[in-house]
Amino acid sequence: MMIQRREYDPAWRVHAADCPDAPPGAFVTTARAVYEAFPHDRPHRCLTKGYVSRNGAVVREQIHYEPHDWVPSTIVPADAIRALCRTCRGTRCANRGGPPVQVLPQTPSGLIIGRS
Ligand SMILES: [Zn+2]
Ligand SMILES: [Zn+2]
Repeated sequence: MMIQRREYDPAWRVHAADCPDAPPGAFVTTARAVYEAFPHDRPHRCLTKGYVSRNGAVVREQIHYEPHDWVPSTIVPADAIRALCRTCRGTRCANRGGPPVQVLPQTPSGLIIGRS
């Protein structure tokens, strides 16, 4: 099956629902639901491993990034159209354009044709 590569929106920040820095009135969901739908979101320091593994209540805070160039990070989700941006962890940054960057130059080992 072909993987549909997709664009990633800039990452949001994830807080424990009772974090003092969490945005008031934000939609409360569970840690697991967020990490399934938005695996690239940035956990705030209030979010501990234990809290996430207990599937605690969390809220997402939208982060407003300054306009910036896309600088590839080392994060390359299997279904992303290109490496995630180092600044915002999205794929839709200002200098985007042209064909998608080949993030995974894959050469299936069974199909290498020798040049002998
Ligand atoms: Zn927080
Ligand atoms: Zn970016």
